[in-house]
Amino acid sequence: HKRTPEEVLTLIEQEGVQFVDLRFSDLLGQWQHLTIPAYEISLETFEGGRGFDGSSVRGWQSIHESDMIAIPDPSTAFIDPFMEPKTLVMICDIYDPVTRERYGRDTRYVAQKAEQYLRQTGIGDTAYFGPEAEFFIFDSVEFGTGSNYAFWRVDSEEGWWNREIASSGYKIPNKRGYFPVPPLDKMSDLRNEMVSIMSQLGIIVELHHHEVATAGQGEIDIRYDSLLNQADKLFVYKYVVRMVAYKYGKYATFMPKVLPDDNGSGMHTHFSIWKDGKNLFAGSEYAGVSELCLYAIGGILKHGPALTAFTNPTINSYHRLVPGFEAPVRLAYSARNRSAAIRIPMYSQSPKAKRIEIRFPDPTCNPYLAFAAILMAAIDGIENKIHPGEPLDKDIYSLPPEELKDIPQLPGSLEEALKALENDYEFLLKGGVFTEELIETWISYKRKEIDQIRFIPHPKEFELYFDI
Ligand code: GLN
Ligand code: MG
Ligand code: MG
Ligand code: MG
Repeated sequence: HKRTPEEVLTLIEQEGVQFVDLRFSDLLGQWQHLTIPAYEISLETFEGGRGFDGSSVRGWQSIHESDMIAIPDPSTAFIDPFMEPKTLVMICDIYDPVTRERYGRDTRYVAQKAEQYLRQTGIGDTAYFGPEAEFFIFDSVEFGTGSNYAFWRVDSEEGWWNREIASSGYKIPNKRGYFPVPPLDKMSDLRNEMVSIMSQLGIIVELHHHEVATAGQGEIDIRYDSLLNQADKLFVYKYVVRMVAYKYGKYATFMPKVLPDDNGSGMHTHFSIWKDGKNLFAGSEYAGVSELCLYAIGGILKHGPALTAFTNPTINSYHRLVPGFEAPVRLAYSARNRSAAIRIPMYSQSPKAKRIEIRFPDPTCNPYLAFAAILMAAIDGIENKIHPGEPLDKDIYSLPPEELKDIPQLPGSLEEALKALENDYEFLLKGGVFTEELIETWISYKRKEIDQIRFIPHPKEFELYFDI
């Protein structure tokens, strides 16, 4: 059941809510908020919204046209489990106050348009997404950059990766923190607390566990949901993970590659398309999928390089997409094979559970844009009957070069991903889901990130080149 504005007002009254927190995502996928006292909220708020200065939001308006309006979506209301005094949160849609139209760089709008477009094509009525967003938790984090230096250091009570830190006392030996029960797994209680809070907020969790990296890596798997709902939930998910860690004086990060020579944090994304309560991905082709599903895979693999500009949108993302750490490097698909970009899980024989697992995305993506882009690539594959070719049921990391030469690679850097997007974005524009304006803004914003690093020599370069 989705709450109406009236029901939200009743909830505020009954629960003694004192503040209402209006939240929305910036272009990059970071939650922003504006707080108003509860007595300022009325039915009018759900129509007229609240004005704010959009010029200070990353990737948004320039200063001369900066007024924006946030209108809360009552169906997203929840009581914030961390804020005092009692605070009710709602996710907002952003409008331009002059035209009274939706603001084109509000990425939630892109997700809403993608859902609408799926129905419009007649292919299906619902796209389900199930993300597995991995994260690290550290006890201390230090980093700094200047015009001529850069450094970083992280430490976790749970284990070590840094040989200097290891010598300072007992820490878990390399890799043994993965899966053993506590006390080796020192994050179990933290994850339990995160999961309890998520469950209270209506995010159903299927499983949580320690992840493969030496120290401090975890994963909480949430039940599949439709595109917009799931993207909204991911913001709540990240917020809960961060806030619980912070409560204990720790820091959670979703950065894809924090520890060199160890596993990174991905966001494997399970995906299926349904119509009239029927899973269109189940069938009798390879690994129990339908022909339509194969075409969806074909579309995602074909547009894979362009997709990564949204699913893996940071410079750091490409430190993760390297061989040897269970992250994909090749645009291939397979049942079970974890080195492929798309895996077809074989855990269940039930047609309802049939889905594909897209393994390249990482949790630095803006889920509104990433999910919408994935759906658009799948639709393109289905409409144009793009067959994905033969599956690759081999360990791609250990294949000899001759067997690899025809398998396309994922981009090796953010710049490559942006170039791929520049050359391949027509499929995103269908139905007006993405606009050229948004794609251009994205590319130029991301190029500025690249420049920030391009202009600074990396410390490793001193080791490599100082004496040449
Ligand atoms: N952390 C790995 C990745 O980067 C995945 C490991 C796993 O989930 N088995 O995708
Ligand atoms: Mg998993
Ligand atoms: Mg995992
Ligand atoms: Mg997985």
